[in-house]
Amino acid sequence: MKIICIGRNYAEHAKELNSEIPQEPVFFLKPDTALLKDNKPFYYPDFSKEIHHEVELVIKINKPGKNIQPQFANRYYDEIGIGIDFTARDIQAECKKKGLPWEKAKAFDGSASIGKFLDKKQFAEEKNINFELMINGNIVQKGNTKNLLFSFDAILAHVSRFITLKTGDLIYTGTPEGVGPVKIGDRLEAYIENQKLLDFEIY
Ligand code: MG
Repeated sequence: MKIICIGRNYAEHAKELNSEIPQEPVFFLKPDTALLKDNKPFYYPDFSKEIHHEVELVIKINKPGKNIQPQFANRYYDEIGIGIDFTARDIQAECKKKGLPWEKAKAFDGSASIGKFLDKKQFAEEKNINFELMINGNIVQKGNTKNLLFSFDAILAHVSRFITLKTGDLIYTGTPEGVGPVKIGDRLEAYIENQKLLDFEIY
């Protein structure tokens, strides 16, 4: 399986990083070794001094797809979950400055934390899903899919023009504003609506 992440998909987050608002979805990949499941702890890596949390809704692909048309994109996923796209912001800033790829800052081991998934049927309106991240009991990020620049269906259509999607692939759909550093000892809890789906610590 592969992990595809969408960058700058909430305007307020693009602004907080002084990034331009994209005209088409921006995406990058993480390898399967990035996946952090079952509420396992995240081990703070020694190569960074500034690991940021980015809470994101995640869709799980349920069948292979290539050149998916937006009007059929909804048939390619049944489940929506929540995860953290951990980012070594100090390394990413260096890469951006030098015009280099982001992998070092984004694709490292454990950088894709993932929680439980929910059947998408339980959401009346996919364009109105609330989600949030709490650290040590305080809400640090709050998002709603009504603020997505590119909808789930638009993302699937765009990415599948370039990369064939396969069963089990995960798509991290972008983070809302409020990203910031984590530190050893922090407890992260992520919710979709009122359901806690992810709960783990930074070691
Ligand atoms: Mg992200």
